[in-house]
Amino acid sequence: MTIHVLPDQLASQIAAGEVVERPASVVKELVENAIDAGATAITVEVRGGGRDLIQVADNGAGIPAAEIETAFLRHATSKLTTADDLWAIRTLGFRGEALASIAAVSRATVVSRATGQTTGVRLVLEGGQSVARETVGAPAGTVIAVENLFYNVPARLKFLKSVTTEKRLIDEFVTRYALAYPRIRFRLSHDGRVTFQTTGSGATADVLLAAYGPDTTRQLIEVQLSEAEEANAGAGGRRSALVHGYISDPALTWAGRNHILLFVNGRAIRDPRLTFAVIQAYHTLLPGGRYPLALLFVGLPPEEVDVNVHPTKVEVRFRDEGAVFGAVQRAVRRTLLQTTPARGIGGWPTNGPAAAGWGSFRPAEDGRGLPANQLDIPWQLRGPAPEPIEGGGTAEAPELPGTAATRLPIMRVIGQVGAAYIITEGPDGLYLIDQHAAHERVLYEQFLAQRRGIHVASQGLVAAATVYMSPSQSRLIEENLPLLTELGFEIESFGPNAFRVRAVPAILSRSDPAEAVAAVVTDLENETTPLKTQIEALVIKRVCKTAAVKAGQVLSRVEMEELITQLEACNIPHTCPHGRPTLIHLSAATLARQFGRT
Ligand code: ADP
Ligand code: MG
Repeated sequence: MTIHVLPDQLASQIAAGEVVERPASVVKELVENAIDAGATAITVEVRGGGRDLIQVADNGAGIPAAEIETAFLRHATSKLTTADDLWAIRTLGFRGEALASIAAVSRATVVSRATGQTTGVRLVLEGGQSVARETVGAPAGTVIAVENLFYNVPARLKFLKSVTTEKRLIDEFVTRYALAYPRIRFRLSHDGRVTFQTTGSGATADVLLAAYGPDTTRQLIEVQLSEAEEANAGAGGRRSALVHGYISDPALTWAGRNHILLFVNGRAIRDPRLTFAVIQAYHTLLPGGRYPLALLFVGLPPEEVDVNVHPTKVEVRFRDEGAVFGAVQRAVRRTLLQTTPARGIGGWPTNGPAAAGWGSFRPAEDGRGLPANQLDIPWQLRGPAPEPIEGGGTAEAPELPGTAATRLPIMRVIGQVGAAYIITEGPDGLYLIDQHAAHERVLYEQFLAQRRGIHVASQGLVAAATVYMSPSQSRLIEENLPLLTELGFEIESFGPNAFRVRAVPAILSRSDPAEAVAAVVTDLENETTPLKTQIEALVIKRVCKTAAVKAGQVLSRVEMEELITQLEACNIPHTCPHGRPTLIHLSAATLARQFGRT
């Protein structure tokens, strides 16, 4: 074959493929254009998951009649003029590719009337070629209808997922932008049925309610700027990343990370590193394999972020990635530490494990199905103060002068129930403590403290224990030998697929060493994408779990007192390293109410 320049039509189809991957990309680009045009209402109508029709109507600035054909040319934009502008982008669009790309692979009809013009214009394009144009009467704003998507790119059509999948992607996308722009009234319909709409009230909480419903919304915690950040931002010295938004209470978890939504300067972005920063901030608060919800808005001076990385503009590059990572992680962690109180009965999620057994402790429901004290809650999300339990009740975590809100008060041991729970009394009522979970937490913090020091205390075994492994398990052990040594294990090869355990971390001294090593290996096998830090966390958690007292073990008073004293000293006493609660608090007020004293 000779080298030849591709015909225009083919070249634009290829280019279009980069921007318009699927129906959701069309929705994204059209909604972004409407936002850039200053719309206060955006209506999205979809038919057949976007294959038959995608129509986006807005009440924004409109496109002047004289420029309408230009708007559909490749690299035609009103948002950028010089290369320097690329470093001061304040609009969602800037590449001037979307309309051209969409028109190249569909039949597109645009009706627009620009502010200040008396008539509008209607333009129809097929495969990028203009086929009709007329002057029409039209409301101010723009309506773009895209039909027969990918009719001339059959290969793309074949790659589309099911209608349900495409619908879901469109829903996700519209929801994201509605959350980021609460002042804009959004309405989305599929095949004539409205599936999502917002009021445009300006309150993110209202949009959260529309997107996630009252149960989830009530369990979200607001991430606010720290005082220092606020002062700094006010003084105009805004160089570093500012992070605000909402995150879920650790009691609320999802199986995937797709509810971690990130925005940079109002743009929905995809960034695995920042997503990981959020997950890491929840470290030890969530059970393995469960993820939080997070809606985080990162604000940065435009020159600190390069948005011109990919045609779809969902990836960005930061000038100082580490700083942004740190800012996100700190903001989430700070919020969690300020707000994870002991779980009072009222603090359990409605569908939580305690709901059934402790049902009688739940506040009476009012006519709307919300607990009486939470009438106003949908609009007032939980701020840093712990959620009140029952009508007007006070916070669960009693604050002693000079202690952080998350610390436990000094408690008096009363006794043990069912060889599993310890009952204690504190300054504000009664605590039920899960002895295993509490001990795990204590050992975990002790282990981490040792780890931060020079080395982890190791306990030599009088008689070395031999363990036998499968070949793949042996490989795992060999690969992780240096780490295991750092963590206090002394393991050496002892023939094919056999190892001798000569020492274990000191806290394991009372456990069966062979069993402990086997448990660690099983955990490692279950981890599919082990980063070094994850492996380390896994091993530490397993060691603590193995060493902790079990349910069913009768404890002496001295042992119970010892455990409670150690729990009081913990930084995060309310959950075990796997994220389960360590204690349940029945406040004096709750008890008084339940006995009808108030
Ligand atoms: P970009 O958004 O990157 O500038 P597009 O191809 O998406 O490129 O749009 C080209 C131009 O058409 C925009 O710069 C804008 O001036 C105009 N435009 C597109 N959609 C709208 C709209 N909904 N309202 C007003 N102007 C629009
Ligand atoms: Mg655009």
